[in-house]
Amino acid sequence: MTHYPLTTPSGAASKQLIERGKQFWTQNYAPRSMILDHGKGSVVWDKDGNDYIDLGSGIAVCSLGHQEPDLVAALEQQARKLWHTSNIFYTEPPIELAEKLVNLTPFAKRVYFCNSGAEANEAAIKIIRKWAANQGRSPHEREIISFTGSFHGRTVASVTATAQPKYHEGFEPLPAGFTYCDPFNDLEALEKLITPKTAAIILEPIQGEGGIIPAKRDFLRGVRALCDKHNILLVVDEIQCGMGRTGILFAHTYAEDLRPDMMTLAKALGCGVPIGATLVGEKLEHILQVGTHGSTYGGNPIMCAVASVALDKLASPMLMMNVQQRSQEIFQRFAKMNERLGMFREIRGRGLMIGAELIPALHNKAAAISEHARTYGVLVLVAGPNVLRLLPPLNITKTELDTGMARLEEALASYVY
Ligand SMILES: *Cc1c(COP(=O)(O)O)cnc(C)c1O
Repeated sequence: MTHYPLTTPSGAASKQLIERGKQFWTQNYAPRSMILDHGKGSVVWDKDGNDYIDLGSGIAVCSLGHQEPDLVAALEQQARKLWHTSNIFYTEPPIELAEKLVNLTPFAKRVYFCNSGAEANEAAIKIIRKWAANQGRSPHEREIISFTGSFHGRTVASVTATAQPKYHEGFEPLPAGFTYCDPFNDLEALEKLITPKTAAIILEPIQGEGGIIPAKRDFLRGVRALCDKHNILLVVDEIQCGMGRTGILFAHTYAEDLRPDMMTLAKALGCGVPIGATLVGEKLEHILQVGTHGSTYGGNPIMCAVASVALDKLASPMLMMNVQQRSQEIFQRFAKMNERLGMFREIRGRGLMIGAELIPALHNKAAAISEHARTYGVLVLVAGPNVLRLLPPLNITKTELDTGMARLEEALASYVY
């Protein structure tokens, strides 16, 4: 029987490792005091033998859990054939993956591969600017609008697209050409910002880091209409909400007939191997020409071989049924928990992208509660200071989820505030 709360790290070896991490890493992260060692399904183990139900999936990445046998096989097979060639040569896996992605998205014609979400958005930003340039627009007429609460990455351009001042501080001068719309989901506010200088609008169909804020269906449709009216590009950042996370393969299809001009993917695209992608529609399919953009690792055969098998699985209706069922269970469980504990103001989200917003008395406590939950054997994320964020593997079993939610309830019940 495990006794909670756990005191970790318990072993001398893990304590030492953590000290070395603190000594040799730059200090931009604050990892929890444990060394994760291995995982299977939706469970991970630390070096001292404690198990944790993983309701965070390494931030929406491990959507098929840990050690998924077909992904392991794909990785091993490709590792024995060819690791890397660069884009001077064709290999089979990125061709297969690009074709599958295009066939699964009504709007997309072509795919650019890179290694992360920030890079996928960086490519999108360059494509927007080049498109505008090709239309004869001056550099001042290539503005991109993004929304309060958004998150688009940490490179200089993608962090500038990220409309949250806390991510900008100290990194000025920021590149020009970005404008912010406040608030999200407000069509009137958006229309007021649109000028002849506007080239594109970028949005997350469900804001992730910003607190799990779904875009309203009518808002999405309205944005598309405004883009059509003013000859503006619509870019959807599905890096977190895409790849089946919300119970449909791509979250923007929640507004059924919505056709973006561009979509960025990363996180669960590789299910744990680093890969990002920028998908372009008809208007943009010829923008990137030889020499205009690139990445040495982009389209790497190992990443693409894994992502290709992952995509077959993520696109399966059976998996989407699991997402819906487990999602209902989480919402029901939270509702019951809240009757007992009254700690949440709202539980929101779709599929297995769920945010539980804390009551005002618990504001700024999300990180402390998530750490407390860890010591009860369950990993949950936060989105901002006031929201607990659940992004479990999409193939989490009922048993794994029940255990995770029971541990979370025990943790919440014992949290003193
Ligand atoms: C995580 C995330 C990114 C950045 O992805 P990285 O791989 O960390 O660069 C961009 N947009 C959204 C919506 C994200 O959730």
